[in-house]
Amino acid sequence: MSGDPTSFALARIVLREISLALVEPFRISSGVTSQRRILLVEVIDGGGLSGWGECVAGEEPTYSPETIDTAWLAIRRWIAPRILGMAWDHPRQVWPLLQPGFRGHRMAKAAVEMACWDLAARRAGRPLAELLGGERKEVATGISIGIQSSVGELVERAQAAVDAGYRKVKMKIEPGNDFEFLRAVRAALGSEAALMADANSAYTLDDSDHLAAFDQFDLLMIEQPLGRQDLLRHAQLQRRLATPLCLDESITSVQRAADMIELDAGRVVNIKPGRVGGFTPSLEIHRLCRAASVPVWCGGMLESGVGRGHNVSLASLPGFTLPGDLSPSSRYWRRDIVEQEWTMDAEGLVAVRWDRAGCGGDIDPRRLAETTVRTETLRCNTG
Ligand SMILES: [Mg+2]
Repeated sequence: MSGDPTSFALARIVLREISLALVEPFRISSGVTSQRRILLVEVIDGGGLSGWGECVAGEEPTYSPETIDTAWLAIRRWIAPRILGMAWDHPRQVWPLLQPGFRGHRMAKAAVEMACWDLAARRAGRPLAELLGGERKEVATGISIGIQSSVGELVERAQAAVDAGYRKVKMKIEPGNDFEFLRAVRAALGSEAALMADANSAYTLDDSDHLAAFDQFDLLMIEQPLGRQDLLRHAQLQRRLATPLCLDESITSVQRAADMIELDAGRVVNIKPGRVGGFTPSLEIHRLCRAASVPVWCGGMLESGVGRGHNVSLASLPGFTLPGDLSPSSRYWRRDIVEQEWTMDAEGLVAVRWDRAGCGGDIDPRRLAETTVRTETLRCNTG
């Protein structure tokens, strides 16, 4: 329920593209990222208070059909006109404004919707985690390790991650860079380590025997082995495997999550709020999965400290029972965009910022200025 009877109406939306160099290139089955172009969204109400969102779309349409450039266009052309000047009392009313007659563009919609949640939390002087229904004081963190050029390199990184406290090691795999890598990492980390693999859709059902052989590595889960549209084939594959499948790319909406559960196409969900269109559908997927005893965790999209703040807030909800890809700022960035960088303790825990209003990722204005490459301000022109 809204604790604030005063309506919100956005006066301006400021789009900014920032460019951040990754500490090291990140390689998955569909490509390599070395420089991250990030779209930050600032929503500003009539009183001049700001909320921040981050669009998770990449530079190329590899993970999803959306890119940073299509998101920019979608916000300017279709999202901003629907939301600027519109009155709403609670941020859960924003998502429905962005749906009728407007297909897709979920990452663009999410960036604005999540900024509205941040704005509402800041205006109420409450942490975003509280507004979302979160409970945890800290969230357990896993590492996501990109595809390495040699088995030895991967083993070294996985071992270093466990030594640093990470609660889960996820390794990216692809055909040819999988079985031997998994075997070596399992042998090095021992049978107790929480280990999983993410294929980003690099396999087909013809690889079923090959994937079934991974059962011997006792993985926590295999994430998205098949195509993003392949719920039916994931269900066929799940019947062949003892290892639970986790779906990421396939879960683009509440309905897709419901279908996954019904079809037994996966037994774990990686929730990325950007992928499903924002916090409102994320909360519904969380509720649905909890009711079906399907564990969820929060994935990562090479976010800056703003997106990290949103993800950490979401991961504080009770159904997020598995470690999320919520690495500290230093894992990806030489210097993050936020004043207080995200850190992880030796137990692999990241603190939820219950001591401040909003998502906990407050922008460092100087850092913002030096990384911004383009800006556009969208205003309410209805008077
Ligand atoms: Mg994934």
